[in-house]
Amino acid sequence: MIRKLLRRVFSREAAPGKGPSSPANIAVARHGIRREHVSPAARKTCEGLQHAGFKAYVVGGAVRDLIAGIKPKDYDVATDATPEQVRNVFRRSRIIGRRFQIVHVMFGPETIEVSTFRAAHDDATLKDEHGRVLRDNVWGNIADDAARRDFTVNALYYDPSSEMVIDYHHGVADLKAKTLRMIGDPPTRYREDPVRMLRAVRLSAKLGLTLDAAVRAPIREMAGLIENVPPSRLFDEMLKLLFSGYAVDCVRRLREDGLHHGLLPLLDVILEQPMGEKFVMLSLANTDERIRAGKTTSPGFLFATLLWHEVLANWEARKFKGAVNIPALYDAMDEVLEQQGEKLAITRRIAGDIKDIWSLQPRFEKRSGKAPWRLIEQARFRAGYDFLVLRALSGEIEQELADWWTEFQDAGNDQREAMLVSDAAPKKKRRRVRGKPKAGTDTAMADNTGGE
Ligand code: ATP
Ligand code: MG
Repeated sequence: MIRKLLRRVFSREAAPGKGPSSPANIAVARHGIRREHVSPAARKTCEGLQHAGFKAYVVGGAVRDLIAGIKPKDYDVATDATPEQVRNVFRRSRIIGRRFQIVHVMFGPETIEVSTFRAAHDDATLKDEHGRVLRDNVWGNIADDAARRDFTVNALYYDPSSEMVIDYHHGVADLKAKTLRMIGDPPTRYREDPVRMLRAVRLSAKLGLTLDAAVRAPIREMAGLIENVPPSRLFDEMLKLLFSGYAVDCVRRLREDGLHHGLLPLLDVILEQPMGEKFVMLSLANTDERIRAGKTTSPGFLFATLLWHEVLANWEARKFKGAVNIPALYDAMDEVLEQQGEKLAITRRIAGDIKDIWSLQPRFEKRSGKAPWRLIEQARFRAGYDFLVLRALSGEIEQELADWWTEFQDAGNDQREAMLVSDAAPKKKRRRVRGKPKAGTDTAMADNTGGE
């Protein structure tokens, strides 16, 4: 009742972010999305539902990205059909029950997520003691559905049949003005779901949007609420952030807004050590570049880099206390992963990948006998090697070691044999004595050859 009344009041004055109950219908000339730009599966999903007499729109990130000229990662469809009704329209579909029920509709390799219009929370909604919404599965109409979304640019509904965008909250105008504006009162919306703070940072980086002052101002003070978010949810959101293709920018913005403290202990500590920071930023830049070039990336590799300096510190401390080198490394790995696991639910498979990469590192130091041949045959060699290269680039280890492995990989058998370092005399020293230092070689290094 009260909500209806409020909506009627707000409909007179269409305040940005508050939203009128009668939306703007925006034509192609302004938003620019032709139906051919939309994935065939999303189009067929909308058409199928509309033929069956339901409303159906492409919604959320995909509409936002298409208007901004970015290829959407995936497509969501919103409808007034219930999950059961959606299920009955499409042969290849299944109901997924997570926090609320949605339907996955499959067309070839594509899966479209279809959700039924839901209403925003009201006073009766179940919340935790900090105001975080625990359950939100009340059906609603399209206006309710728009109001419960986070940012105005995420509350746009595109109908592929008419090529119109339905916009309740000035999302198109905000997107064109490159502003990220919250629907409703930002502190309230952050309390309902603190992950929205991370989403604000990620979306502003991805789309080059400026955070509206009201969106930005409360973040610093409310950042601590992130601690109440379940680890699995936090992990999903961090994966999205780190693999957005804009991770370097996201981390910079997280720090500017005071969001890195307490949020991610790994970022907390690492970014405060010069060596750790260089390593992490190089790794993030590398990931961004790969993603933007459409190459594959692995969460295991990235998390291995994010946590490496924690492992190094832990490993050193153990060795200092007299522990044996390699067992100490394994214990350090376990402890660091366990500590992080409390905050971020790193899945078991990813933890396995991380450990593989770390445990290969000491093996790169062995450049004699059969060891290099055996290492290069390892399934995870490539990831371990890429990791080694980053360590060298960050200045943690000698560049020469990484270069040796670069050369060794590409070399034929004879050349590999010749490259091996005898156990007694490290090749590095012999080489310097035999050859003249190359032009540009640091004289201090050339002088430092020692006698053989
Ligand atoms: P991307 O897909 O680029 O990561 P997205 O905005 O599509 O960004 P999704 O997680 O796919 O993000 O969410 C789809 C839509 O669901 C959003 O556009 C938004 O409308 C809504 N949404 C997602 N998370 C929230 C949230 N925490 N609070 C309110 N609405 C949300
Ligand atoms: Mg999305």
